[in-house]
Amino acid sequence: MRIARFSTNGDPRFGVVGDDAGTAVVGVLEGDPLHSRLRLSGEKLRLDAVRLLAPVLPRSKVVGIGRNYAAHAAEMGNDPPQQPLVFFKPNTSVVGPHDAIVYPTQTRSLHFEGELAVVIKRICRDVDVSDVPKVVYGYTVGNDVTARDLQERDGQWARAKGFDSFCPLGPWIETELDVGDLAVTTTLNGERRQDGRTAQMIFDVPTLVSYVSSFTTLLPGDVILTGTPAGVGPMEAGDEVAVTVEGIGTLANPVVARG
Ligand code: MN
Repeated sequence: MRIARFSTNGDPRFGVVGDDAGTAVVGVLEGDPLHSRLRLSGEKLRLDAVRLLAPVLPRSKVVGIGRNYAAHAAEMGNDPPQQPLVFFKPNTSVVGPHDAIVYPTQTRSLHFEGELAVVIKRICRDVDVSDVPKVVYGYTVGNDVTARDLQERDGQWARAKGFDSFCPLGPWIETELDVGDLAVTTTLNGERRQDGRTAQMIFDVPTLVSYVSSFTTLLPGDVILTGTPAGVGPMEAGDEVAVTVEGIGTLANPVVARG
């Protein structure tokens, strides 16, 4: 099932994306399916008549995982990590499909990082690897936008990874998906830049969720970004970046200068 969060010029609502005789539609839900029971209201809208929003706004946190693909660690001059390398992005960095990635005035090197994103279903701590499917709501596409020069200069990554608009998510949450070996690709202005597979992760999704839950409580709607394949690179104002995860969809965003 594909769960979308959307607007039709009013408050955000949630819906199930489906097909109605060849037309993509959204079956409107009552309430927030992450925090209440899944119930269709009966209203149905054309998908192309709604504005998709970030499918989840984490109330608590976005967890990032660094250097989780060996080829990406190598392209940045780093050894593969011995254990998952964890950082946080503030929930205020989240934006949705087609929202602008705002190029900060403080950086000269703004990079895309296309990633598979995990959405957490329930409050959990110390989750065994074998129990991880019980705490995962689904998967979406993420772009772990990074100010590469600030990442190096600051040492800590809070600023380099944490500017407003540095965490595009979308286009929806796919709730039934085997994420063991999916293509993760990124294009810049239509040109292929990243071409990886989730099977290349050093630490797989169950290992990551279990590891993160070993030190912090995960809450419904928390997001874990699972790391980026090789091929990261700079974006400029005026560019359009698009990340696709096989089986989920494409997350596209323009890059704009800070006005
Ligand atoms: Mn990343």
